Amino acid sequence: MKVPFLDLSLQHRALREPALAALTATYDATRFCLGKDVEDFEHNFASTLGYPRVLGMNSGTSPLHVACMIAGFGPGDEVIAPSFTFISTVWGLDYVGATPVFADVEAGTFNLDPAKLAVAITPKTKGIIVVHLFGQPARMDEIMAIARQHKLFVIEDCAQAVGARYQGTPVGLFGDAATFSFYPTKNLGGCGEGGAFVAQDEAIHTRARHIRVHGSDRRYYHDIVGGNFRMDGFQGALLNVKLPHLAAWTARRRAIAGRYLAGIKLAEARLPDQPGYGQSVFHQFTIRHPQRDALREHLTKHEVGTDLIYPVPLHLQKCYAVLGYGPGSFPVAEKAAATCVSLPIFPELTDAQVDHVIAGINSF
Ligand SMILES: *Cc1c(COP(=O)(O)O)cnc(C)c1O
Repeated sequence: MKVPFLDLSLQHRALREPALAALTATYDATRFCLGKDVEDFEHNFASTLGYPRVLGMNSGTSPLHVACMIAGFGPGDEVIAPSFTFISTVWGLDYVGATPVFADVEAGTFNLDPAKLAVAITPKTKGIIVVHLFGQPARMDEIMAIARQHKLFVIEDCAQAVGARYQGTPVGLFGDAATFSFYPTKNLGGCGEGGAFVAQDEAIHTRARHIRVHGSDRRYYHDIVGGNFRMDGFQGALLNVKLPHLAAWTARRRAIAGRYLAGIKLAEARLPDQPGYGQSVFHQFTIRHPQRDALREHLTKHEVGTDLIYPVPLHLQKCYAVLGYGPGSFPVAEKAAATCVSLPIFPELTDAQVDHVIAGINSF
């Protein structure tokens, strides 16, 4: 039995007819940049997921960039982010000239460790970028208490956590701004690039709306510096078709995760913690094992696809050599990178496939 790490074709084949009808309507109406499809999606996303207002953007990196612009981060400012995440979490800091400062994560959830965050704060710290990695919410009570004490701007990177909740509250409602990605492999994926920006504060929302279209409210009048961060019409159209299925897809991801949690019985394998405060949406199911590479090879022989997410923590990436970190700076993140392996978890997997993965692991 073959179990691919991810197969996007199944979901897209199932939705082919409504998807192509929606894309055709957008094509025929030439609603290519923003427009009704994107506005509808913004309303639908906000009401379905519990956000007051949403802005569609052209990637998950864009709203992070926009949030950094709005926060006013700049040269000399330090902003703390976890070392174990996708690099896009911190690109916005480089775009505005601020300095990423990394902090270590918790071994159990791969998320920012509040104790490590607290000791990373200096007089130059201006903000925090929190990531709800793999769909598991970070410890927002502790993180927000630290943020308030030091008056820091908090950005929540929810790229992997659409629909996730912390103590029952949707992620993204704790910080000053929140960002989402609709990259095709995400839990809610477009047919190309896409993302979203969420802010509860109306002034922040309005500023982001203006920045999205070249810093303008009226065409050709630019009151603030902006850029082009618009979502295209095709993404809005497809995401409107997909959004009604998200709850069922998330339920299926949780069921698969439950099967892994109950079924994997391998000495020395560490399964991801499921703390009571978080309701994960399981973007990834990532386990750790001291012989990770051999385990991966073993699974390949069993025709089980896996991936390394992530093989190198951000503080050891070449592009950040200039920041002066080295091996040993963040031992938990480094150990996670050295021992993690992500298993197949997408809604179309059958129970038989999941059991095949479990059997493969347990026979290692
Ligand atoms: C996917 C992702 C992003 C945004 O990526 P884009 O490819 O620009 O949509 C940001 N942060 C994390 C943690 C991600 O996984």
